[in-house]
Amino acid sequence: MRSVATTVDYTLRKRSVLRDYRTGRISIYDVCDAHPEIRRIARNVGEDTRAVCPICRRENLRLLNFVYGDELDYDNGRVFPTRIVFDGLREKYRSFTCYVVEVCVGCSWNHLVRSISFDNSRGEGDV
Ligand SMILES: [Zn+2]
Repeated sequence: MRSVATTVDYTLRKRSVLRDYRTGRISIYDVCDAHPEIRRIARNVGEDTRAVCPICRRENLRLLNFVYGDELDYDNGRVFPTRIVFDGLREKYRSFTCYVVEVCVGCSWNHLVRSISFDNSRGEGDV
């Protein structure tokens, strides 16, 4: 049985952060603060996008899917390709959450794009 997926989209939060940056309410250090390890992961296994970084406008953003859940054991906190999240982990675990983060490897911009909670512990139907 496939799990129920519930998505929370953070587009409005992103717009708010970018507006605050462009009006000078927050600095580039507040918005371009990706940890070097996140940048390394994004460079090596991040998924390409066509979206240009909203800060430096030089690099295309890369997406990372971090997964967390009580029963994930050694998979907890790991990054997985999107196809594995939807066709693999979803069948393997009863419940987990995937946090999709966009990262610019050039200027260190990073932002939570969406979270997707998968749950088949309630025995509900397919999504
Ligand atoms: Zn950038």
